[in-house]
Amino acid sequence: MNYIFVTGGVVSSLGKGIACSSIGTILEARGFKLSLIKLDPYINVDPGTMNPFQHGEVYVTADGSETDLDIGHYERFVNFQANRNHNHTTGQIYERVLRKERRGDYLGATVQVIPHVTNEIKDAIGEGAGDSDITIVEIGGTVGDIESLPFLEAIRQMGMEQNNNVVYVHLTLVPYLETSGEIKTKPTQHSVKELRSIGIQPDILLCRSRKELPLAEKRKIALFTNVREQDVISAIDLDDIYRIPLWFHKQQIDELIVSKLGLVDIPPADLSEWQRMAVSYDAPESQVKIALIGKYVSLVDAYMSVNEALAHAGLALRSSVEIIHIDTEGLQQDPSLLDNVDGILVPGGFGERGIEGKILAAGYARQNKVPYLGICLGMQVAVIEFARNVAQLNGADSSEFNPNTPHPVIALVTEWQDREGGIQQRDENSDKGGSMRLGVQRCQLDKNSESYKQYQQETIDERHRHRYEFNNLYKDKLQQAGLKLVGYSMNKDLVEVIELPDHPWFVGTQFHPEFISTPRKASPLFRGFVQATIQYKQARLK
Ligand code: GLN
Repeated sequence: MNYIFVTGGVVSSLGKGIACSSIGTILEARGFKLSLIKLDPYINVDPGTMNPFQHGEVYVTADGSETDLDIGHYERFVNFQANRNHNHTTGQIYERVLRKERRGDYLGATVQVIPHVTNEIKDAIGEGAGDSDITIVEIGGTVGDIESLPFLEAIRQMGMEQNNNVVYVHLTLVPYLETSGEIKTKPTQHSVKELRSIGIQPDILLCRSRKELPLAEKRKIALFTNVREQDVISAIDLDDIYRIPLWFHKQQIDELIVSKLGLVDIPPADLSEWQRMAVSYDAPESQVKIALIGKYVSLVDAYMSVNEALAHAGLALRSSVEIIHIDTEGLQQDPSLLDNVDGILVPGGFGERGIEGKILAAGYARQNKVPYLGICLGMQVAVIEFARNVAQLNGADSSEFNPNTPHPVIALVTEWQDREGGIQQRDENSDKGGSMRLGVQRCQLDKNSESYKQYQQETIDERHRHRYEFNNLYKDKLQQAGLKLVGYSMNKDLVEVIELPDHPWFVGTQFHPEFISTPRKASPLFRGFVQATIQYKQARLK
């Protein structure tokens, strides 16, 4: 078993997740089986309840775990399927320790950070590693934070226990000072000093910088950090994240790692797929503008997988997709914001304030025949809009937003299953997250639909994350008014996909197709949607 531990220094948000994924990509291309793990220093036990506008998107794995968005990068870059063993928070580790303590597993010993918490961390890493050849472990946060100390201590211990089978990679920032035109290596020196003071000597430094590091600076960093000059790698800002594996490979990072791990006779990396992608980026054949309608758009990371899935579709179609983030409140004030876009996408969301703006966007797409993709909440608002304005169900809504609506076309299953017609209320505070439909579920597609045309499959597996559903009590009314219900759960009782007839492309899905889209295999629905936007634009320009 081989481990690569990746830490970060100087500042956060340097792209550690993408660095880990890119290293994984190259090593996979050399024939290794990879596993990737993220250790998050925060104390939350359930990342699913964290605010995406502070922390970025909640990513959902196949087994229904709600994880950090970096897990999404791992799955997009590497052919690896994550589960609940691949993301741990401090809170979850402590929860495990405390459960053991309550059970009496420690036989009355004093329970301490070292060794009890660090042992739990090492066990968790071992479980996530499974039967892979190489496991990359990303330590969240920045070296120097109090919170990440137990994780750093655990990986320090593993270095000793695993003999030569461990490589420590440290990602830092090497800023460029515009005013004096200088490259500054001091923050990196300090960050490595900090890391060494807790007993970890990095093997490889990944230095984020605007331009390639000159040799003099590399030498200086090497000298002050006790790292060989050739192990100082310059990680420049690239216009697209999927170019990073090629860039790292050019700097021979895989060779450094393989030789540090003492692995011999390893075939060279075959990165031809990634080279092909780069060509597609360099020479797009079309260009489209897609409006993404969000609650707050200040943190685009909140829609990470959707942004990426659009980029994957663009890659597949050799189209450059520009995403225009439009916030719902701005849209309500000025619907003409949608006048120049080639497609409208309403992504998932919870407890919406800006719900009316999203309903407006769905209505705009329906009436103006602009291609529309509605994901989860985006499907729900399309149903509400159709119910109100086409099926004449005045005041139709989701019971999530208006519990007293006369027409709860979207509701909790417990609400619409009440045969007496009464609405059962759930205690929202009882078990947040507990009643959520999460993870992969199979869906059956109507052969006579746009969605089937894209997937070319009658059954598909896609990931879910929601509580509310299409209310079957309104099935007949909405179908009679023209809404097409073209995807169902396998036991036929839940509506999964809706479409509109007499419209170039209008699809809403209860699931989240963005979670399994990768640059190598774009989501069929995203590809279909972007294709429709290309055609829409051509028709508009004629
Ligand atoms: N809030 C809605 C629900 O819980 C939609 C969730 C989502 O878009 N992921 O059903």
